[in-house]
Amino acid sequence: MQVTSRPSTITPNSYLPSVFTTVASHDVPVFFSRYPAGISVAAVDVEAAMHAIGELASTEGSRERRRARIRHTNPYGDPFAVCHCTAFPDRLVLLSSLVEVMWIHDDVTEEMDHTEACKAHAELAAILRLDIDPSSIDSNNNPRLKALAEVLRKTIDIDPAKAPAMIEMLKTYLATFDNVAGNFTRLEEYMPHRIANCGYWMSSYFIRWGMNMDLSDSDYASIEQYDIAMGNVLGLTNDYFSWHIEKDQETDRMRNAVMVLMKEHRVTAEAAKMMLLGIIVDEESRAAKLKEERLKSPTSQDILQYFEAIELYVGGSCYWHSTAPRYQIFE
Ligand SMILES: [Mg+2]
Repeated sequence: MQVTSRPSTITPNSYLPSVFTTVASHDVPVFFSRYPAGISVAAVDVEAAMHAIGELASTEGSRERRRARIRHTNPYGDPFAVCHCTAFPDRLVLLSSLVEVMWIHDDVTEEMDHTEACKAHAELAAILRLDIDPSSIDSNNNPRLKALAEVLRKTIDIDPAKAPAMIEMLKTYLATFDNVAGNFTRLEEYMPHRIANCGYWMSSYFIRWGMNMDLSDSDYASIEQYDIAMGNVLGLTNDYFSWHIEKDQETDRMRNAVMVLMKEHRVTAEAAKMMLLGIIVDEESRAAKLKEERLKSPTSQDILQYFEAIELYVGGSCYWHSTAPRYQIFE
């Protein structure tokens, strides 16, 4: 299977920085998103940064290091270089490193019991300070603390004006992504939790930060329902592709919509997976309708830029999941 690159201009009137090329994602048989996908011109730098942060944030021989290596060995592209392809290269490397520490933390804590995991989230959250000094962190017991301190220091220093809001956003992520114990039995209740759990709010923030742009509060409020629909697509797409590696995981809190649908509708895993695919496509249609409605009112350049970038994020995520070797085992 050959996937070719195309020039970065999505539309003649694109507001995005010229920092990526689009890919022929529709050539991938299992790709189903309506949205385009791209890859950053700095993909090689991202791969090097992911290797470095993986060494720093995990210990040799650990499960989380093995998982991090697998995550970053997709021949079609690194997940950050694909999903965050619209970010300026210097910012892309930093946001990727920061989010990667969060993913490694998630890998470590998802198999702890919920009480123990919440303690670990609080321990990591204590690093989130404007005056963080990496040299003061002793990493003997938990290498993620020092790794986070180092990358956070650089991320604060490259854009001090945005740093207080960024730290608040990261604190909210750690306080909410794993704040529900037990398992869900209704998709309606699971979906709002899954948006935060899959890191969509954090990614949405870094989409804006990566392009050094802001949405005003009123701009953001005017697209909130669209953003929620896109967040549902992101989280449920991960559930769809990762079911076969998560179904036998030992955990007291399964985070996968296939399991929720099996319980809610008393159906087999195969039927629940097909149902989930339909729900994702439906949610994409809902997002597209909400965008169409929003475009009938006066729209700032920031909103137009955000629409383009978040659609590349969501399309990129489907492309990455469609091509990542670990997800390509279909029973
Ligand atoms: Mg998953």
